[in-house]
Amino acid sequence: MKASAQSELFRKLPSVDDLLTQPAIQSLTTDHTHAFVVDAVRAVLSNLRQEIASGLLDDAGLDLALSGLPGAVESQLRQSMKYSLRSVINATGVILHTNLGRAPIADAAIDHIRDIAAGYSNLEFDLAAGARGKRDVHVERLFRQLLREAGAQDSETQVSTIVVNNNAAAVLLALNTFADGGEVIVSRGELVEIGGSFRIPDVMAKSGAILREVGTTNRTRISDYENAINDRTRILLRVHRSNFEITGFTEEASSSELASVAQKHGIPLMEDLGSGALIDLHSIGIAEAGVLDSLRAGVDIVTYSGDKLLGGSQAGLISGAVELIARMRQNSLFRALRVDKLTCAALEATLLAYVRQDHDAIPTLRMMRLSKEEIGERAEAIAKGPASAKLKAEIIDGESLLGGGAAPSSVLPTRLLALTSDRFSADELCTRLRNCQPPIIARVEEGRVMLDLRTVFPREDSTIVESLISISE
Ligand SMILES: *Cc1c(COP(=O)(O)O)cnc(C)c1O
Repeated sequence: MKASAQSELFRKLPSVDDLLTQPAIQSLTTDHTHAFVVDAVRAVLSNLRQEIASGLLDDAGLDLALSGLPGAVESQLRQSMKYSLRSVINATGVILHTNLGRAPIADAAIDHIRDIAAGYSNLEFDLAAGARGKRDVHVERLFRQLLREAGAQDSETQVSTIVVNNNAAAVLLALNTFADGGEVIVSRGELVEIGGSFRIPDVMAKSGAILREVGTTNRTRISDYENAINDRTRILLRVHRSNFEITGFTEEASSSELASVAQKHGIPLMEDLGSGALIDLHSIGIAEAGVLDSLRAGVDIVTYSGDKLLGGSQAGLISGAVELIARMRQNSLFRALRVDKLTCAALEATLLAYVRQDHDAIPTLRMMRLSKEEIGERAEAIAKGPASAKLKAEIIDGESLLGGGAAPSSVLPTRLLALTSDRFSADELCTRLRNCQPPIIARVEEGRVMLDLRTVFPREDSTIVESLISISE
């Protein structure tokens, strides 16, 4: 289209103010705020401008669009009144997918949240004494049970736990409490960045602690730590290499070696475990040390996330020696980083499932324990569905990932539903899946769309069948 014809079309577009005086659009302001309607009008006009600019509209097309403007504004308004935060089907096979909200929580946790959030509770009220209480007593008692075997019976070595907003906050609180103005010794191989811009050196700086790097990227010996200890040293820190591995010519000090050096010098040993598991995962083929392993090795303070391997809601947990935890509680940062009642409720219900050893009640643990055969059978059933007429479906071996910074090399064998179509590329199929209701998130590998049902709830299988029919049409 010629530039002059195009500018003719642009001239036909009404102004925002013109539109707002039209009765059909005016009436929309009875149900929505004025600002919301103005935004919708702007969005619709800007769409039209784009369509003109890209030559999609001729004169007749524009007239048609202009006559439908009130309707377009109304549907734009309806669109913006929908929730932006929505549930999706995770068919990526990544169990703790940070972009997809990490751990789905247990049914009991949802029930407990609903109950506690809908009314008043004894969040900080000691019912027996009729006096003010502490909000973390509700989960602390359960953590004490779950981590009990780590500490001896005498109170000095008992383990206690406090809860903050997330693990980043846990690390910040611990470092600030013990090392503000002092030095923290960390191996150069552990100065990590976790997704979402959590960088150990940055958090360290915010806490007021001074980073004292030791060793090299690939090798740090126990003597490196010991040589760096001086009278400004406040903490020996070890950080889990959550999303990468160092292989080849490597060496690192074990936690128990570090614990004995720390003890000898009277300095606490802290470990940022990231994905702290509360049960031994080796039996399901996951080589990931848990919270108990760290405590048993003599780590004084362990920090970990509530929504990673633990399988609860977002939280940061700090478990360790009673007197150290008590000092963190005194820090005014603790108040700033505290959790709300919804988190307390979710955690309490999740921990109770651990105490009952009802691991299948925790969705992420259930997903981890699914066998490749079970997953394969569900994939077969979906592949035999009506969509198979239009899509080519094959079941192949593959690997699911733990994600969330747990054992980067720990993979679980799975069966994948591999899809191809004569009409659409794999990327197009993936986009079409994302546009389904609810959106289905899959991955593309070697020109095929891969669905891993490990992370799909069985109740969602039928939705996948229906969505596959609709996207193949
Ligand atoms: C995930 C992770 C964090 C950040 O935890 P959040 O709960 O997301 O704040 C910090 N350190 C390590 C080692 C991690 O794996």
